[in-house]
Amino acid sequence: MKNPLLSIVIPAFNEEENVCNTAAVVQKVMTDANIPYEMIFVSDGSKDGTFSKVLELAQKDHRIRGLEFSRNFGKESAIFAGLSAIRGGCAVVMDCDLQHPPKAIVEMYRRWQQGYEIVEGVKNTRGNESVFHKIFAKGFYKLMTAMTGLDMENSSDFKLLSANVVQVLLDMPERKTFFRAMSFWVGFNSCQIRYDVADRAFGTTKWSFFKLARYAVSNMVSFSTKPLTFVSYMGGLSMLAGFVVAVQTFVRWASGKSLEGFTTVILLLLLLGGGILMGLGIIGGYISAIYQEVKQRPRYVVRLDTDKLLKQGNYHD
Ligand code: UDP
Ligand code: MG
Repeated sequence: MKNPLLSIVIPAFNEEENVCNTAAVVQKVMTDANIPYEMIFVSDGSKDGTFSKVLELAQKDHRIRGLEFSRNFGKESAIFAGLSAIRGGCAVVMDCDLQHPPKAIVEMYRRWQQGYEIVEGVKNTRGNESVFHKIFAKGFYKLMTAMTGLDMENSSDFKLLSANVVQVLLDMPERKTFFRAMSFWVGFNSCQIRYDVADRAFGTTKWSFFKLARYAVSNMVSFSTKPLTFVSYMGGLSMLAGFVVAVQTFVRWASGKSLEGFTTVILLLLLLGGGILMGLGIIGGYISAIYQEVKQRPRYVVRLDTDKLLKQGNYHD
C-alpha cells in the first residue's frame, strides 16, 4: 500500500493576502475529493506577514505547515525546501496565488493512484499577463526548448511527483536547480494533464523584469551547454569571413590599391570585438556557475519552521 498522503508545496513570497484564502480553497477541494493532504507553505524571505499567517493557520490545523527562509532565495529554492519537508507519498507544487487551479490537483492525484510517478500540469492558455511578460516568457521558452530539447513552452512548476521522484531530485547534487527541466530529465512513468491558468487571486506578480531575466539566464546556464557550442560556431564563422577578407586584402595589396577598405576594417573591428565580448560573457556565465557550484553553499537557509515552533510552544515570530 502506498502512503496516501498528498503533500502540497506552496512557495510564497510576500503573499500575506493570499495565504488564508489559498489554504481555505485547497482545504475545500481536498475535503470534497476525500484526499488526505498536508500543505507546506515556504515563505521565501517575505517582508510581510506571510509566515505569521501560516503559523496562525498551523496552530489551528496540523495539516498546515510552513517554513520561513532567512532571506529571499528565489522560487526554485522554496520549491526544494518544501519538497525536502514532505511527509506524503506524493507531492504537488503549486503557486500561492491560485493561478494553478486546486481542482486540477484532484486529477493529478487520481493519475498518481493509477500508477503514474510524475503528472505534469500543462497550461492551456496563459492567464492575464502583461504583453511584455507574455513576449518575454514566450521568447524564453522558445529558447529553452531549442537549447534543452525539452518542450518548455507550456510547461510550468505545477506538477505532481511521487515521493520516489522527489527523493531523486533532492539527491541531485547541484545547487543551481531548475525544477521544471529536472523533473523532465529524471524520466519515470509520466503523463500530462491540461489546466487553464487563472488570474492571480490577490496581490501582484512577484517577478520584476530583472528578476525574470536573471532567472532565464541562470536556468539556461544550469541546464544547457549549447551557448558554449554557439560561441565556437561563431568563432569558426568569423575565421571563415576573415579568410575571405584576407584574400581580398592580399589581392588589393598586390594590385597596388591597398589604402581603400577603411570601412571594412572598422566594421570588422566592431563585429569581431562584439563577438569576442559576447563569447567571453557566455563563458564567464558558465565559470560563475561552476564557481557557485564548487562553493557548495546550501540552496537556502531556513530561519523558522512551524513544526519546531509548535513543538516548543513558542508561537511568537
Ligand atoms: N515566489 C517565490 N519567490 C520569489 C518569487 C515568487 O516563492 O522570489 C512565488 C510566489 O509567491 C508565487 C509563485 O512563486 O507563489 C509564482 O510567483 P508569481 O505569481 O509572482 O509569478 P507569476 O505567476 O506572475 O509568473
Ligand atoms: Mg502568479
